Amino acid sequence: MMRICVFGFFLLFFVLSPVSAGFYPNSSVVPPELIRNATGNLWNSFLNFTGCHAGNKYDGLYKLKQYFQHFGYIPETFSGNFTDDFDDILKNAVEMYQRNFRLNVTGVLDELTLKQVVIPRCGNPDVVNGTSTMHSGRRTYEVSFSGGGQRFHAVKRYSFFPGEPRWPRHRRDLTYAFNPRNMLTEEVKTVFSRAFARWAEVTPLTFTRVESFSNSDIFIGFYSGEHGDGEPFDGPMRTLAHAFSPPTGHFHLDREENWIISGEGGDGVISVPEAVDLESVAVHEIGHLLGLGHSSVEGSIMYPTIMTGKRKVDLTTDDVEGVQYLYGENPNFNGSISPPSPSTQQRDTGESGDASRIDGSRLVLTSLLLLSTVGLFLYLV
Ligand SMILES: [Zn+2]
Ligand SMILES: [Zn+2]
Repeated sequence: MMRICVFGFFLLFFVLSPVSAGFYPNSSVVPPELIRNATGNLWNSFLNFTGCHAGNKYDGLYKLKQYFQHFGYIPETFSGNFTDDFDDILKNAVEMYQRNFRLNVTGVLDELTLKQVVIPRCGNPDVVNGTSTMHSGRRTYEVSFSGGGQRFHAVKRYSFFPGEPRWPRHRRDLTYAFNPRNMLTEEVKTVFSRAFARWAEVTPLTFTRVESFSNSDIFIGFYSGEHGDGEPFDGPMRTLAHAFSPPTGHFHLDREENWIISGEGGDGVISVPEAVDLESVAVHEIGHLLGLGHSSVEGSIMYPTIMTGKRKVDLTTDDVEGVQYLYGENPNFNGSISPPSPSTQQRDTGESGDASRIDGSRLVLTSLLLLSTVGLFLYLV
């Protein structure tokens, strides 16, 4: 295993070629041919299964089972050899998925469910060893906010990695570095600085950029395809990024996305739906690096999806309370984070298929990365 890990990091450090394209100051300069590439989302074929239900057989349904297994909804023990039968295995997966995304739990592949399924997302699962990381009932409770005469419920659904790993108390001042092979511009690096600052504002943590990639606490890199951790990226859309639990510090992004780096769109809208706002993804993934899992509060940063072409970078109460559970408050924080807006609090999650899934929590991956870290250590010594 160690040899494999060392080999994986050998790949990471020496084989990957520099980022060749994919960063755009704003959406108006994304080349049209790249936009056409991005629309070729292979998952869209799953929409053909609309209305499918248990007891029947449908051509190609095994591919959907593979999808659900990849994201944890079907146990790894059901390896290979999926049939096209809509069996109980798939029905259970669909129901769990519907619970996670707060859809009607029907066990049927209805339109809203499949619209959510085809949303681009990262390769990390929502379910670890049969336990959903998105829907932790243990920490789910409701509180009421009143504001502007309107009263609504904010459902607290932040979650953590299994075992609640976090950066240890003696490591509050963290460093981050970029893979030098990526040769990122200062403009791109600044996007990450802004994203880190959002978490530093509400915690005792600090984040300092350093040049030494091998000696930092957090390692940021853009990769395409297989890149050493067994979780290959897949080109435009679908999976966007993944990050690992503390104190691992690995943060990988798909370099084949059309990344918008300007932070344009003050109203949250970017004109090109196939482009992804880099800072929005970065803020979310940093949440994973700090130990947060997914929240099922749609308006929160740690919700697994964002709308493509939109920008979502402001921490919500749910995010802040989650990270402060792990690290406590920033004594200098003035508490100005506002609760999520009513419009995003209790909306059905399946209302649009034009969204991107971002994510980063996976026990399997975490284990791999922990082992890989040991491998890296062995490699370095
Ligand atoms: Zn990776
Ligand atoms: Zn995530």
